[in-house]
Amino acid sequence: QWGQLKQELLGTVGKHNFANWIEPLELSDVSDGVVTFNVPTTFTGNYVSRNFGDLILFQVNTVSPEIRRVHFRVPANGNVRPEPSAPKPRAARPAAQAAVSQAEGQVPAAPLDDRFTFDNFVVGKPNELAHAAARRVAEGGPVTFNPLFLYGGVGLGKTHLMHAIAWELQSKRPDLNVVYLSAEQFMYRFVQALRDRKMMDFKEMFRSVDVLMVDDVQFIAGKDSTQEEFFHTFNALVDQNKQIVISADRAPGEIENLEDRIKSRLQCGLVVDLHPTDYELRLGILQSKVDRFRNDYPGLQMADGVLEFLAHRISTNVRVLEGALTRLYAFASLVGHEITLELAQDCLADILRASERKISIEEIQRQVSEHYNIRLSDMIGPKRVRTFARPRQVAMYLCKQMTSRSLPEIGRRFGGRDHTTVMHGVKRIDELRHQDAQIAEDLELLRRTLEG
Ligand code: ADP
Ligand code: MG
Repeated sequence: QWGQLKQELLGTVGKHNFANWIEPLELSDVSDGVVTFNVPTTFTGNYVSRNFGDLILFQVNTVSPEIRRVHFRVPANGNVRPEPSAPKPRAARPAAQAAVSQAEGQVPAAPLDDRFTFDNFVVGKPNELAHAAARRVAEGGPVTFNPLFLYGGVGLGKTHLMHAIAWELQSKRPDLNVVYLSAEQFMYRFVQALRDRKMMDFKEMFRSVDVLMVDDVQFIAGKDSTQEEFFHTFNALVDQNKQIVISADRAPGEIENLEDRIKSRLQCGLVVDLHPTDYELRLGILQSKVDRFRNDYPGLQMADGVLEFLAHRISTNVRVLEGALTRLYAFASLVGHEITLELAQDCLADILRASERKISIEEIQRQVSEHYNIRLSDMIGPKRVRTFARPRQVAMYLCKQMTSRSLPEIGRRFGGRDHTTVMHGVKRIDELRHQDAQIAEDLELLRRTLEG
């Protein structure tokens, strides 16, 4: 899969950058939400991390949303070090001790990021409910909803909110045993306990927690024994009226390969979603980051309109937005002049290109049926009369041209048609567009509408 992602990156960073920086990257391992690449030198590692780290993470996230970090390292003796395929249990890092009380026998928790606090969280329409719910849990009062289930796409602030809850509780209620970990880590602990025949300890450990937060729970979908154990842990804590906070990249009911009883349990409390950011929120987040950058880069000016430009153009994900700003400051401080719109366009070209809007099959179908004034169901349905068949072929043609979907996939989304039917439709429109001025005009108009 890395091979494929590399190809995507080639398209966004350009040939030159690709050959120098991306091509030499060697995928080493993936564990604990971190992808590690081998690089030939520390310099390369630093450069790639600074300039392409966000972009690589962004690309990786399109196929593996659970990845939180990309890491670059120089392998010992210059060779690829063989990694054990099962992640080894790690000694808790020092940060973990600072983060969550770690007395003997307590649950090993993940380190907390000290930037992920409520103070640093910008609230807007898309996330105000999630924020309010998180605040409520962070008060540490009596449990009013259980669990709190936060969901939303990559980079919208789920992890940030969970860490913020943990930080707040630590200062307000140091008596509580607050544990934050990813679903992946939960699984590792569980597998490790099984292997070491320490299941009793494992169960006891988790059942002594006061507030349990499990991030990216979609990870345990399809992992049967882990699910089973998670279910028991979950029930035991709910029975004791202990607060649970869960996050996932989608709603409980939409996580495939998750047992129904778990889904329904997860829906029992408060389910809130973090909506995709809107322009206002993105601008707010950028402004708050700029305030902090001012301290790091005193004297570096920013021209009017740059933040607005970024908020407008980078609509994918807050992580990418932050990365863009970081790079912009670093770059401007290197060349030693004001951050202008031109500078932004130049030094963020790859990010800007990558976050161009992706068009979906549904969108195309909707626009085309509207354009020809037919019902969506007729366009997708089995009727073969010309009034439906032609728009259907137009839509198939646009799907082939404007999305990266394969012919069989497109066929499936058009009422389960065969890929040869799609191919035929695409060919037909391709011919017509040279012969029929009306079709050519329709296509042009639709394309423009879809590209927004
Ligand atoms: P998720 O877990 O939903 O994928 P994260 O919580 O890791 O996303 O957020 C990605 C990055 O974006 C983090 O650096 C986080 O601090 C930042 N971020 C997300 N939402 C906000 C917000 N509302 N205000 C400030 N920073 C945010
Ligand atoms: Mg996260």
